[in-house]
Amino acid sequence: MSSLRIRVYGDPVLRRVSEEVTDLDGKIAMLCEQMIAAMYEAPGIGLAAPQVGVSQRFFVYDFGEGPGVLVNPDIVESDGEWSYNEGCLSVPELAWEIVRPRRIYLKAHDLEGNEVTIEAEDLQARLFQHEMDHLNGKMLLDYLTDEQRREAKGILRQRAMRGSSASSKPPIAVSQKLTFP
Ligand code: ZN
Repeated sequence: MSSLRIRVYGDPVLRRVSEEVTDLDGKIAMLCEQMIAAMYEAPGIGLAAPQVGVSQRFFVYDFGEGPGVLVNPDIVESDGEWSYNEGCLSVPELAWEIVRPRRIYLKAHDLEGNEVTIEAEDLQARLFQHEMDHLNGKMLLDYLTDEQRREAKGILRQRAMRGSSASSKPPIAVSQKLTFP
């Protein structure tokens, strides 16, 4: 069991712009291990530090090839366009068609402080963009139309009033079951 609690929409930490990691110490490595455990437990394929209450620029991920960590990531280039039914562990059980660039080229650091460059496309590129949004305090709801956002907020408010999201059914018809960051 992971000891980390995944923060959900409404928690102010999710809206903060995270700070650059300046000191890659053992604490961050240990936190990443716990975050990877929490991500698998959720289950999801990515988890950003703000989602566990830490306003620092790193995230963990595993899109099927084993766990990874990216620190201080920056998108250098992006192109193409791709719409996909995207969800978020911090907005549980909801998902929307979101348009994002299909390909990205990013620079980041690994846990040892080495610079890494990654060219990613499709799901991997989407995952990285989604996690980097979290580092900038941005959430899926920001991509919605006003009407979609009103509906989503209504659902989230109802859940908050019930005090639990665990037993609630997905109120929006989701075209494919998806667990995501
Ligand atoms: Zn997310």
